[in-house]
Amino acid sequence: MMKIGSHISSAKGYEAMGKQALKLGASTFAFFTRNPRGGSAKAVSESDVGKFLALWKEKGYGKIVAHAPYTLNACSDKAEVRRFAHEAFSEDLARMEYTPGNYYNFHPGSHVGQGVETGIRQIADLLNECLYEEMTTTVLLETMAGKGSEIGRNFEELRAILDKVRLSEKMGVCLDTCHVWDGGYDIVNRLEEVVEEFDRVIGLKRLKAIHINDSMNGLGSHKDRHARIGEGQIGWEAFVRIIHHPALRELPFILETPNDDAGWMKEISMLREAYGETKKE
Ligand code: FE
Ligand code: FE
Ligand code: ZN
Repeated sequence: MMKIGSHISSAKGYEAMGKQALKLGASTFAFFTRNPRGGSAKAVSESDVGKFLALWKEKGYGKIVAHAPYTLNACSDKAEVRRFAHEAFSEDLARMEYTPGNYYNFHPGSHVGQGVETGIRQIADLLNECLYEEMTTTVLLETMAGKGSEIGRNFEELRAILDKVRLSEKMGVCLDTCHVWDGGYDIVNRLEEVVEEFDRVIGLKRLKAIHINDSMNGLGSHKDRHARIGEGQIGWEAFVRIIHHPALRELPFILETPNDDAGWMKEISMLREAYGETKKE
């Protein structure tokens, strides 16, 4: 079965997220562990999580992909911003253990003029401080569009972070189709070469999830403006190839497209159909 879903609001708790996913026809989903613009996280209710886990098990669905807040910047030039990043990251990892064995994805960070090398070192510092032996979560570095001073604009930068992480077996990568396209990887005309390059630089065994987004802008634009599937410059045919690619087809696909519920339902069913699944009643 295709693993596909969208972002879902975590405001009403875990069981509500599970039910919303089912409503959308999703078999995985992403959610922000706290307000995406920052702030504190609500306490987890064990009974709420328990109901979600029971629902997910009953359905036979696999991993979910949590997303760290956008404001989390491990390589800010401001010490208090880096401190918030460490605190929020650690708290989120503790929270993730209520849903054991899933994914926690984060944007590596923006070095804001400190330079790529310093940025990479500070991101690795965060990971070396926060990851711990007993955790069951896999932390995913997201491939970035290279807007401003974002780290992760190419596969080499992610590899450089991974090389510095002690518990690197806890680490994986989430490939965002809009971001890699904006970053200059031609997944429309050279998907095979891009996958090979990922394998050569990072290793396909690290690839754990796909953020499936079209892009409003052109190859190498470094803009990071998501579009609905088939409505941007990547285009529908490229997505059909992406979801069928043998190295990608088993991964969870997460939509981060500008949509409402009806739009995500439509995208999920379109993609399922293209994958070769018809909606079961
Ligand atoms: Fe992201
Ligand atoms: Fe993304
Ligand atoms: Zn993006």
